Amino acid sequence: MSEAAPLFRGSIDLHTHSSASDGTETPYNVVRSASEAGLGTLAITDHDSTAGWPTASEAARDYELTLIPGMELSTRLDHVSVHLLSYLFDPTNAALLAETETIRDARLTRARQIVERIGVDYDLTWADVVAQTRPGATVGRPHIADALVAKGFTPTRSDAFQGILHWRAGYFQPHYAPTPLRGVELVVAAGGVPVLAHPGTGSRERVMPERRLAELVDAGLFGLEIEHRQNTVEGKERLHELAAKFGLAITGSSDYHGEGKPNRLGENTTSPAVLERLIDRASGWAPVYGAVTRSL
Ligand code: AMP
Ligand code: FE
Ligand code: FE
Ligand code: ZN
Repeated sequence: MSEAAPLFRGSIDLHTHSSASDGTETPYNVVRSASEAGLGTLAITDHDSTAGWPTASEAARDYELTLIPGMELSTRLDHVSVHLLSYLFDPTNAALLAETETIRDARLTRARQIVERIGVDYDLTWADVVAQTRPGATVGRPHIADALVAKGFTPTRSDAFQGILHWRAGYFQPHYAPTPLRGVELVVAAGGVPVLAHPGTGSRERVMPERRLAELVDAGLFGLEIEHRQNTVEGKERLHELAAKFGLAITGSSDYHGEGKPNRLGENTTSPAVLERLIDRASGWAPVYGAVTRSL
């Protein structure tokens, strides 16, 4: 009996950022980098924005990759920031569009406030941050970090996060975000497939309580991003228990931010079987099959 041809060639990385949010490469170049890294399938998941989808799609055709258009939606549970990876939803869905616009506005106000606070102690202005941000990009602490680096106050983006931008330094401020439950509901209503991003970055006890996770599962949560460098060994253990209990898919990805973070493309990957289920579940948007398009 002959084996069925694999649906997806090469490895699968379902979490990357471009300059449409806080990555350092344009959406087109993230796909090009993925091609150079030998990946076969890539999801582009900018924070609270789908602005990168058109040019990333163009690049997927040019470089013959499969692209899964996505987003990393900011949500918040009590005082904890919870990131929700969202795939193949309808980017014109009015409710989701309105919510992401609200979040991006809140991020902008919050970034200005953080910069104002830092400005008391350092010679840093809002213009310095604007200089580090692509027009229309979702603004975050990484852009403030880049401005601090450009001004010589800190050597790297990562150092800024360990120092001036850490909440302990006293300049930090959170921004508005909907609850994870609201996030899952919005993504599902837009035909998308939601996966909790890096949900195990601390001890077992820091993983989302079971009853809260159960609510998300009931609302249509598809999976947990367990293979991610920020998840701890104990966190992953707990997540595997929860995935088994709730029948959740397990994904792995890099959370690539270009030169902004040490994470390398393809350092963690997702299985073709999980990707196939994810695509079957989606009804809002289709993957871009760059390789297939070319060979037709
Ligand atoms: P914010 O969402 O504005 O609070 O900023 C946090 C975001 O910064 C997270 O999504 C991180 O992925 C991102 N980030 C980008 N580069 C880095 C870095 N070098 N160290 C830590 N976080 C980073
Ligand atoms: Fe980020
Ligand atoms: Fe994240
Ligand atoms: Zn991310």
